[in-house]
Formats: sequence, C-alpha cells, structure tokens
Amino acid sequence: MEDYWIRSVTEDGTVRAMAAVTTATVEQARRRHGTAPTATAALGRALTGAGLLGAALRAGQTILVRIQGDGPLGGVLATSDAVGTVRGYVANPEVHLPLTSSGKLDVGRAVGRGTLHVTLDLGLRVPYHGSVPLVSGEIAEDLASYLVVSHQIPSVVALGVLVAPTEQVMAAGGLIVQVMPGAEERVVSYLEQRAKVLPAVTSMISGGTTPEEMVGAALGEMSSQVVERGAVRFRCRCSRRKVQRVLISLGETELHEILAEQGRVEVRCNFCAARYLFDEDDVETLILAMKDGHAGSTTRH
Ligand SMILES: [Zn+2]
Repeated sequence: MEDYWIRSVTEDGTVRAMAAVTTATVEQARRRHGTAPTATAALGRALTGAGLLGAALRAGQTILVRIQGDGPLGGVLATSDAVGTVRGYVANPEVHLPLTSSGKLDVGRAVGRGTLHVTLDLGLRVPYHGSVPLVSGEIAEDLASYLVVSHQIPSVVALGVLVAPTEQVMAAGGLIVQVMPGAEERVVSYLEQRAKVLPAVTSMISGGTTPEEMVGAALGEMSSQVVERGAVRFRCRCSRRKVQRVLISLGETELHEILAEQGRVEVRCNFCAARYLFDEDDVETLILAMKDGHAGSTTRH
C-alpha cells in the first residue's frame, strides 16, 4: 500500500477524522538519518502526527511539532504541510532502549519529561504557537493533550511504528479523531469507548487495513465521508542554492576562516541529513560572485 492520508467528516460535521499510512515515509526518514529502532519509532510517530494535523491545513500553511524532553533522544522535530510533505529529525538518532514490559519500543523513556511545542504557520503575520507539558512522551497522548488544552478539541490520537529486527520499518501510520464544538456529549463518550477497543495502529496497517477502514473502525456506527485525500512523502526543501545563500550571509572573512581550518566547507541539513560540500574553488567562486553582487540572489532591488 502506498503512503497516503485521508480526512473524513461525519454527516453533521461534528466529528472529523484523519488517518494515514506512512510506512514508506518513516522508512525513508530512518534511512536518511540512520536512526536506531527506538529513535525510529519516536521520529515516525512525530512525522505521522504532524502529517495528520497537516491534513487540516490549506495550501501554503505549515505545522511544526517539537517534542523537547529530558530523555536520551534529546528532542524530536517534525514538520508538515497541506499536501502531506513531511520532514524531521531527532537530536540523537542512535538511541535504542530495551523494550517495555509489554514488548514495545520505549519511546516514552527515550523522550523523557518535558514539553510539546506546536507552531502553526497559517500565513498570518505571526505564527500561532502552543505548548503543553508532555503526558507520557509517547507522542500520541501528548498530541491529544495539546489538542484539548490549546484548541479545546477532545481528540483520540493513535500513532504507531513497527520496526523489524533488521531495523527496517514494517508498518507506520496513525489516526486522529476530533470532536468539534457543537457535538453532543454522548458522541465523545461513544468515541472514547471505540478507542478502547480499537486494535493497535501497527497491527491494523501490517494487516493491510487502509486509512478509510481505520476511520471506519474508529467511528463505528457513525457514518462519515472522505472529503480529502493525498499522498504522504518525506521531502526536504533544502537545496545547494539555499545553502549557498546561507554561506554568502556568513561573509568572506568567516568563509576564509572555515576554509583555513577545515580545507573545505561542509553543511549538513538537519531536516533530511543531506550534505553539501564546497571545496576551496567553490567557495572562492562564491566569494567572487558575492563581490559582483549577484550570487545566490534571486531578488533585485
Ligand atoms: Zn534538507
């Protein structure tokens, strides 16, 4: 099954559900960052959560989820947009902890205690920022807490990443069900009951359950309609040209200092782990062009 997300609403519009399969996306993130299993699960859950919340955005808007805990992972960051493009990283990709007593990857302990930050850039002058203390560090519960506390939207959030002994991602995905204002109280309790009997996301996805079927399982007797659907993929916005602009902003003196120390300039993108190398010739060309006043500049005044 290819990675994709859907957004559904019930007939009366009071319940909204987003579901996604992100197996290939999370595997791509694992390969790029070389994450060990516990770190893969944390990053995969964050990417999936950001992707699901991004499904409610409009073109040009972005969401950034940052989990800052005191555990060995040292921070997880994921961003997404309205078309399912996600990217992100963990501070310490090598983190792998013993499994929990129930045999699960111990994301909660790897994250530790701390804060979940969400920044919504809706294209307004100032981005919206909200943060909540982490509930468990398991990420799904933390996102649910953020949605209730910051947006007053009672939500069921389920995120899962299944990692094989070979460290490859076997299944990843998630589900968010949100009760919008105006819903009856019994709707909330019905959905909470459904959530308790819902199979784990990873077992649904490894069993071939589609996002549509996941939403069906979560909503039970409530009928809903898919209003939007799109691909999910890991893709970064970095490019050699953007890196050149950053280097130019450092200035000639600084660039010469780096060259003198390291013999070349190497820039690594945090989000996708891409490496950009500039040897002495590249840097001198950049400096010459900078002096001419047109390097890397796409705007004219
Ligand atoms: Zn990048």
